[in-house]
Amino acid sequence: MTGHIDPNSPLIPAQEMVLPTLQGDGKRRWINPALSTGKYWKRRRLLAYGLIAFFVTLPHLRYAGKPLVLLDIVSREFTFFGHTFYPTDSGLLLLLMLTVFFSIMFLTAVGGRLWCGWGCPQTVYLEFLFRPIDRLFSGTIGKGGKPRGTLNAALRVGRFVVYLACCMFLAHTFLSYFVGTDRLAQWMRLSPWQHPSAFGVMAGATIGLMYNFMFFREQLCMVACPYGRFQSVMLDRKSLIVTYDIHRGEPRHKGKATGPSAGDCIDCGHCTAVCPTGIDIRNGLQMECIHCTQCIDACDAIMHRIDKPAGLIRYSSQDALEGKKHSWVRPRTLIYPLLVLVTSTLFLALLTTKFAFDARVLSSPGAPYAINSARMLQNNFRVRLRNRTDKTETYAIRMLGPASASVQWSDEAPTLKPNESKLVPIMITAPVGMTAANHGKIEAEVQITDQTGNERKISVMLLGPG
Ligand code: SF4
Ligand code: SF4
Repeated sequence: MTGHIDPNSPLIPAQEMVLPTLQGDGKRRWINPALSTGKYWKRRRLLAYGLIAFFVTLPHLRYAGKPLVLLDIVSREFTFFGHTFYPTDSGLLLLLMLTVFFSIMFLTAVGGRLWCGWGCPQTVYLEFLFRPIDRLFSGTIGKGGKPRGTLNAALRVGRFVVYLACCMFLAHTFLSYFVGTDRLAQWMRLSPWQHPSAFGVMAGATIGLMYNFMFFREQLCMVACPYGRFQSVMLDRKSLIVTYDIHRGEPRHKGKATGPSAGDCIDCGHCTAVCPTGIDIRNGLQMECIHCTQCIDACDAIMHRIDKPAGLIRYSSQDALEGKKHSWVRPRTLIYPLLVLVTSTLFLALLTTKFAFDARVLSSPGAPYAINSARMLQNNFRVRLRNRTDKTETYAIRMLGPASASVQWSDEAPTLKPNESKLVPIMITAPVGMTAANHGKIEAEVQITDQTGNERKISVMLLGPG
């Protein structure tokens, strides 16, 4: 794919293919894939419309009176399935992210780029929303491929308007994940000047989506997405991939194959014509292949036409193609699920114990300690309390140790409304001599409980003369 370069051009032609979407002179090679409506395409279409419906509906759903998903960055509150996470839950969020990360590694080790071909929003929206729009305006419905002639101005404008409407709708849906559907509906009835930041996010997202789906397209998978680049370390020779059976297909023959030594590939080029990244699967496993299965559908249709069994291009593994025994059990398919199990168990365990209230001790400003008129040592702290339940709670505090110390709320026992957070002062009193033997400090432990019986144990450092 070195392309033609003007002999007078100062450019040096590339000696080999750099990217299937680049010509030798560096210009973009536009891909207009044909469409093959085989069994995999039908399944992918079903899943794609399900995923689009899921993405659009999710921000409207409620659970336990809260949005099912709300990523409120401004208030720094992240709600998933009725649980609200705060910045203090970074440990929980880390466990959640590790669970997702190891799950992706596991899925890739077993199923190759299943995500890219079947679930990634880039593939889903490009192949099942924006390309059908292209086909509608270019008059190649059901076939795909190159447009029939150049689009006239009216069709171009029409296509642009439909793209814009879709991108604006997606951008509004995207924004609703961060601000909630109620606030979004309110803003949509107001002037943009009354909510300029949110309007800016929506406008930026619309422009980004327009650029991506009108112009950038498959380049995102090839040059921007890190997942494709990591394939070589995440796949092994037993991972499921979309692959061409070289033993069955070669030597390829133009036209229907004849003779016992002829391979099944008739070099019709259909597998390349349908490829949305412009590669030839017969050249082996390539980073650009997003495993969209279009070449499987295209080749199966050809095999059917020439009375050969389907599956010249199919889901298989490198080892299986070489006749080696396939095995699902191997180190990475054991280690990754084990890691998923550990991180998800830890996450769930923390989630169930943590979700009553948060309590974090902060030191109070001013002198580190005081000695009162009764010659008792006094240390003041503040407790950051957050009620994470949906009912009003009152909290109690008691000293766990040392035995001679005592603790009390500085004012009356705090009462917090649902999801309310408060900074509550506490005072710990202890005999003056207690810290003397320990260089002026000693560790103490207090316990905070709510009315339901949930408890938090907190360690604090008492300071005094030493
Ligand atoms: S579609 Fe099948 S038969 Fe046609 S070129 Fe590709 S592999 Fe060969
Ligand atoms: S080679 Fe086949 S599976 Fe890979 S991107 Fe192209 S059409 Fe899709």
